[in-house]
Amino acid sequence: MPYTYDDQNIFAKILRGEIPCNKLAETEHCLAFHDIAPQAPQHVLVIPKGAYVNYDHFASTASDAEIVDFTRAVASVCAQLGVCPSEGAAGYRLISNAGPDGMQEVPHLHVHILAGTRIGPLTV
Ligand code: C5P
Repeated sequence: MPYTYDDQNIFAKILRGEIPCNKLAETEHCLAFHDIAPQAPQHVLVIPKGAYVNYDHFASTASDAEIVDFTRAVASVCAQLGVCPSEGAAGYRLISNAGPDGMQEVPHLHVHILAGTRIGPLTV
């Protein structure tokens, strides 16, 4: 099935500046902002600026430059938040939900960075 991107999704509107976000960082290809309903003391979303529905869409069709920028942006935000184990911090969890079984709400690729407490076990 081809990927269908809904340009009226809420993150597309954030990227167009039609609705606000609490921005933390921005790169050529990515935007990072604080989640509006945090599920942990630190909860940041990183999204690509391109029109990608989810991770597999992005990984299979984005340019190498976008993929490198996105990957490094996530790590850079973790460093900015001060949660990297390599710096002696207690760590973080990355989550990217896709589709109904992943319980994805917003159909624009995003990685959740959760940190600041011991995140519970992965369960279904
Ligand atoms: O992975 P999923 O699609 O379920 O997550 C969407 C996330 O986007 C939620 O954590 C929600 O709180 C967040 N959100 C946001 N700002 C909005 C709308 C949703 O941070 N304006």
